[in-house]
Amino acid sequence: MSAKKDFIRDIIAKDLSSGKHATTITRFPPEPNGYLHLGHARAICLNFGIAEENAESGGRCHLRFDDTNPAKEETEYVESIKRDVAWLGFEWGEHLYFASDYFTFFYDCAVHLIREGKAYVDEQSIEDIRANRGSVTEPGKESPYRDRSVEENLSRFEAMKNGEIGEGEAVLRAKIDMAAANMNMRDPVLYRVLHAAHHNTGNQWKIYPMYDFAHPLEDAKEHITHSLCTLEFEDHRPLYDWVVANCPVPAVPRQIEFSRLNFTYTVMSKRKLLELVNQGVVEGWDDPRMPTLSGARRRGIPPEAIRRVCEETGITKQVGVTDIALLEFEIRRLLNASAPRRMAVMDPVKVVLVNYDESRSEMMKVVNNPEDETAGEREVPLTRELWIERDDFMIDAPRKYFRLKPEGAVRLRGGYIIKHVGHEVDENGEVTEIHCEYLEGTVGQPAPEGIKCKTAIHWVSVPHAQEAEVRLYDRLFKVENPDAAEGGYQSVLNPDSLQVLTGVKVEPSLAEMEPGEGCQFERQGYFCADSKEYVKGGRLVFNRTVALRDSWK
Ligand code: ATP
Ligand code: MG
Repeated sequence: MSAKKDFIRDIIAKDLSSGKHATTITRFPPEPNGYLHLGHARAICLNFGIAEENAESGGRCHLRFDDTNPAKEETEYVESIKRDVAWLGFEWGEHLYFASDYFTFFYDCAVHLIREGKAYVDEQSIEDIRANRGSVTEPGKESPYRDRSVEENLSRFEAMKNGEIGEGEAVLRAKIDMAAANMNMRDPVLYRVLHAAHHNTGNQWKIYPMYDFAHPLEDAKEHITHSLCTLEFEDHRPLYDWVVANCPVPAVPRQIEFSRLNFTYTVMSKRKLLELVNQGVVEGWDDPRMPTLSGARRRGIPPEAIRRVCEETGITKQVGVTDIALLEFEIRRLLNASAPRRMAVMDPVKVVLVNYDESRSEMMKVVNNPEDETAGEREVPLTRELWIERDDFMIDAPRKYFRLKPEGAVRLRGGYIIKHVGHEVDENGEVTEIHCEYLEGTVGQPAPEGIKCKTAIHWVSVPHAQEAEVRLYDRLFKVENPDAAEGGYQSVLNPDSLQVLTGVKVEPSLAEMEPGEGCQFERQGYFCADSKEYVKGGRLVFNRTVALRDSWK
């Protein structure tokens, strides 16, 4: 059992020990109008985490789609949300719900409120309703329809329901207090007319409930004990409580608010993410640059890294922004321990081992992960011709340059020490080929006397090399707070957020990965086989998850 602690878990522990509740039932209630983002992970880890911690007493967490809005919701989103919650490592079991299955219940509650004289059909224009709401400093004005009889309200509400009243011509409002200091309590709208088809109920309904009315009823119907949501709902809590207190509900849930998880260098609202997708700024919701959970998965980010950030940042009411470097740190930490090392040469230049026979070829045993003995070794073929990184050779090298330089020596990772004997350049001074001698007996052995060799470089045998495409992803925005940019968040997009390298030379084992599988390209960073475009033994496409070091510091 985890020792996580925060003010919400304290409240729950108290409610359990006082006997107020026998167990705790939470829910994660996304609206299926977009893909889940990193911020949602905080709500998921909190709600499902609490359920897991209280599993012994029967604690559980519902996955509930808050699909009461007919216009925006799509089944594609429902499926993506399920996939993402499962990927983060949580299970809802049989507790999968759709708020749209409760439409009749919402309706019955509305009729109940009308019968009790606590709701009325208002037929003022939308503009008048807005104007008569007053302001923070001024009370609102009561609607001329406020004191209609119960019978008239029932028949007008019925007419709304039957589609006899057009959109915008009438709403159902709670009769609370037009002078309330909290604007949400000034006769809030409970239902509106919408002649739109719903993905679940089709054309059955012509009226749809507002979030503030539906949400507490959903919670109560599912016997949610603690309804955990983000701070923007704090001012709505009195209305939440009013709905629960005045409707015929089977349980009394309690709403508790916490602050959102935000990250630097990104935007997180679904509206903006949808714009990025629709305007083609990114390839889709799962573009590896997107702060979505599906983007993170496609980028090769381990779900544990996201869970750890949620754990470390905790649950509070303090509004803050989390440094994206914290997530990157966790990714590196996890992958450093677990990712097998592989060799890939991004910008290749040829080395010829002039004293190595043309027909010769041998298997070098290369350590898979120096951080993990159990990862073992693999065999990598070595031949007379090798690819190395262009910048691992320097003609006019400074004294502290320890890679290959004229007359210098360097070790091939897992293999021989090689010594420069010559090189060729083209008319632009660009190196086209490097000539080296390999030193017999140096595999796994220190450099012989008189040879200075301080470092090892990665390499790939020319006849065995596989061609790959490598996508170097960087932050999507170049400033810490894109939302605050004067020209709008799209004015601060990072033009270098994606760099595509083709003709990358990779060792043969990299043609045998599974899509989505990850590894470290030695000395380069962490990469994964793209889950959509990588074809085993065919087109090899790799995504950079994160570089080895933070280059933004
Ligand atoms: P956005 O404002 O980003 O579009 P949303 O709040 O409209 O998101 P919902 O689908 O309504 O998205 O959210 C489902 C749940 O996730 C809600 O309980 C909400 O409070 C929570 N949530 C959304 N964004 C965050 C965030 N950044 N940090 C923590 N919880 C969040
Ligand atoms: Mg929302």
